[in-house]
Amino acid sequence: MATKQDLVHVFLVTFPAQGHVNPLLRLGKLLASKGNVLVTFSASKSIGNKMKKAGAAVSGDPTPVGNCGGMIRFDFFDDGCNEDNDDERNDLDTYLPKLEAYGKNALALIINNHARNGWPVSCLINNPFVPWVTDLAEELNIPSAMLWVQSCSCFSLYYHYENSLVPFPSEEQPDIDVGLPNMPLLKSDEIPSFLHPSTPYPFLRRAILGQFKNLSKNFCVLMETFEELEGDLINYMSQVCPIRAIGPLFKNPLLETSSSISGDLIKADDCLEWLDSKPDSSVVYISFGSVVSLSQEQVSEMAYGVLNSGVSFLWVMRAGATSTGESGKFPEGFMEEAGEKGMVVQWSPQAQVLTHPAVSCFVSHCGWNSTMEALSSGVPVVAFPHWGDQVTDAKYLAEEWKVGIRMCRGEAEGRVVGREEVEGCLREATSGVRTAEMKANAMKWKKAAEEAVAGGGTSDRNIQEFVDEVRKLSLKKAQTQH
Ligand code: UDP
Repeated sequence: MATKQDLVHVFLVTFPAQGHVNPLLRLGKLLASKGNVLVTFSASKSIGNKMKKAGAAVSGDPTPVGNCGGMIRFDFFDDGCNEDNDDERNDLDTYLPKLEAYGKNALALIINNHARNGWPVSCLINNPFVPWVTDLAEELNIPSAMLWVQSCSCFSLYYHYENSLVPFPSEEQPDIDVGLPNMPLLKSDEIPSFLHPSTPYPFLRRAILGQFKNLSKNFCVLMETFEELEGDLINYMSQVCPIRAIGPLFKNPLLETSSSISGDLIKADDCLEWLDSKPDSSVVYISFGSVVSLSQEQVSEMAYGVLNSGVSFLWVMRAGATSTGESGKFPEGFMEEAGEKGMVVQWSPQAQVLTHPAVSCFVSHCGWNSTMEALSSGVPVVAFPHWGDQVTDAKYLAEEWKVGIRMCRGEAEGRVVGREEVEGCLREATSGVRTAEMKANAMKWKKAAEEAVAGGGTSDRNIQEFVDEVRKLSLKKAQTQH
C-alpha cells in the first residue's frame, strides 16, 4: 500500500448539479485508478446527502480505487443554505454568490487542515460555474486545472465571446451567424443560448464566463471530449491554453471496478430487467436530464406522439419535472394503452440503459453528458434541446456527427412541438430511410470512443500525461520548500 509520501493529493470541487458531479467524479476515480493519487472529491453538504441517499459509498476515509494504490475520499462543505431544502439553491442569482462566499472559506480551512495533517494538496480541479475555486488555488499557491464538461466547440464559442474576437448576436443584430475556425457556421440559435442578449439567465452567462476570465490561471484544461471527435478544433484551441481531451470518461475501462462510488443524486429505478425482456433495437429511451423541465402541454403532445408512433419506450419523468414544478402528467389512459410497450421511471441508470442492446434511439435534451454517453454507446439521438450548450450539441449531432434528427431548436423557439412532429421524428429515427445510416455513424463514434479510452489511446495518454505533470509539479514544490 502506498504511503502518504508516495501519494499525490488532487482535490476536486464540483458545482452542485448532476451534469457536473458525474464527469468530475468519473475523473476523480480515473485519476485514482492511474495509481498513487489520493483524490478528494468535494461538494456542498446537500450534494453529499443526496449521493448518500441514492446509495453511493462516499466516505471521508480514503477508499482504494483500482489496483495501483490510488484512493478516493469525500469532503462536503456548508454552503450556507438549509442542508435538505433546495428552495434557496434554486434561485441561482442569489445562490451562486452565497456558494462562493461559504465555499471559498470552508475549502480554504479544509485544504489547510489537510496540509497540517501531512496530506498537502498538489492540484485543485474544478468544473465550470465555480471559477472562484481557481482564485482559491491561486491564493493558496496550488496549481489548478479545470475540467470542461461541454464540447470543445462550446469552449471555443465562450472563449471567442468573452474576448470579443468575432461578432456575436447583439441587441442590434440578434440574428447574425457565428463563424469560428474549425467549426461549421452556426445560426444565431445554434450558439449556447446564454450568450444571447435576450437570455433570461444572465447569471448563468456570468458564471460560465467567469471561468474564461480565469483561464490563464489554469495550467491545464481537461476536456470531456476525445481527439477523434473534435481533434482539429482541440488543436486550434490548444494555441490559447493547454487542453487535454480525456473523454468519454464514463466509457473508461478503468472505472469498471469502482461502480459503488456513483454520482447519482437520485436513486435509479430498476428498468434493466424490463429492457432485458425486449428485442434488440426496439426501445426508444426518453430523458431530458436533471434540470430541463417541459410544459404540461409539451408532455402531453410528446406522449401522444410516442403512442401514435407505436414504438416501445422507456421514459424518465423526474418528480416535479414540469415548468410549474409539478410532476408531468401523462394523458388519461396513456400507460394502459402503452401496456407492455411502455415503462416510466423517475430516474434511470442511464449509462447502462444506453449500452443495452434493446435501446434503438435516445430522445434527449442533448446535455453534453447525455450527448457523449449516446455517441460513445452507438445510439442515435432525436434531439430535443432546451437551452445553453444543448442547442449547439443538437446541431453537431444532426449535421456534423450525423447521428441525429432535430425535433426542435430550443426554448427560444417558444413553441410546443406537436404530436405529429414527435411521431414523424420517432418514425424517421427508428424505421426511416436514414435509420441505418445514423446507426452506422453512431457505431463508428462508439468504436472511436472505445479506442480513445483504451490503454495507449489518445484520451488514455492524455490522462497519464496529466497525472505525470501533477506529480512533477508536486515534487518541484516539495523541493523548493526544503
Ligand atoms: N442521468 C441518469 N439518469 C437519468 C437521467 C440522467 O443517470 O434518468 C445522468 C446522465 O447519464 C448524465 C447526467 O445525468 O450523466 C445528465 O447530464 P447532462 O449533461 O446530460 O444533462 P443535465 O442534467 O446537466 O442537463
